[in-house]
Amino acid sequence: MILETRPKKRIFIGLLVLTSLILSFFIFLLWYVPLVGLKNIHPSLPLIFSLVLAVSVFLMFSGGLLLIFTIMRGRDIFLSHKLRGIVAKVLFPFMILMGRVVGVSKEMVQQSFVELNNHLVRSNSHQIRSNKLLILLPHCIQNFDCKIKITGNIKNCNGCGKCEIKDLIELSDQYQLKIAVATGGTLARRIIVENKPEAIVAVACELDLTSGIQDSYPIPVIGILNERPNGPCINTKVDIQKVKNAILDFLGSKGVSTN
Ligand code: SF4
Repeated sequence: MILETRPKKRIFIGLLVLTSLILSFFIFLLWYVPLVGLKNIHPSLPLIFSLVLAVSVFLMFSGGLLLIFTIMRGRDIFLSHKLRGIVAKVLFPFMILMGRVVGVSKEMVQQSFVELNNHLVRSNSHQIRSNKLLILLPHCIQNFDCKIKITGNIKNCNGCGKCEIKDLIELSDQYQLKIAVATGGTLARRIIVENKPEAIVAVACELDLTSGIQDSYPIPVIGILNERPNGPCINTKVDIQKVKNAILDFLGSKGVSTN
């Protein structure tokens, strides 16, 4: 299993710590301000209110610490599956907001989120059967001048080698995986519903990967950022080795390698 240790994940963690501190400050205010007033309603209300807020702070920090330790150890400690959902559905919008406050671009936060998600997925040691693993590709990876329609059936590609669709089909054949091309989020969702994968290796830009990971939860997704040497959405590329590593992370000992 290959765990990437580039510093991008630290952006998300840094924003998470900052958010926790700011939220703690607001929770403190929420505790302190009504304290005197609550006493007048019922003598035990200040204690109950304090306990509720203390539990909230405890859960927030223990969740954050669990996330950090899971990332540091690179394997599941406790509830990493649920953590992935909380990161995708709850924390990510906060991190975008906090990134804006401290001057980190949305693109950087999205990249950081994708890496963090990949780390959490890998830490869960999934063992997926090859016929339940889907490789999902963006349409922009196809050579712009290619006239063959591959969105309905990627196997229409004649393997001329002018784009990486050829290599990706060969990879899917080698491991006997499902493979499809999506032109956008709606088609991607339809492909997922029709194929019912247990795990997905997705190639796309930051924006599409982020929304795809969020929409697909609880299905585990390893996201691989495409490369855009010609600008966005045209003749994009992907590191085939990264796709292969992600496939092997999912297949584990169930991999069907012919090499
Ligand atoms: S490899 Fe396939 S999809 Fe890419 S340009 Fe050649 S025929 Fe078209």
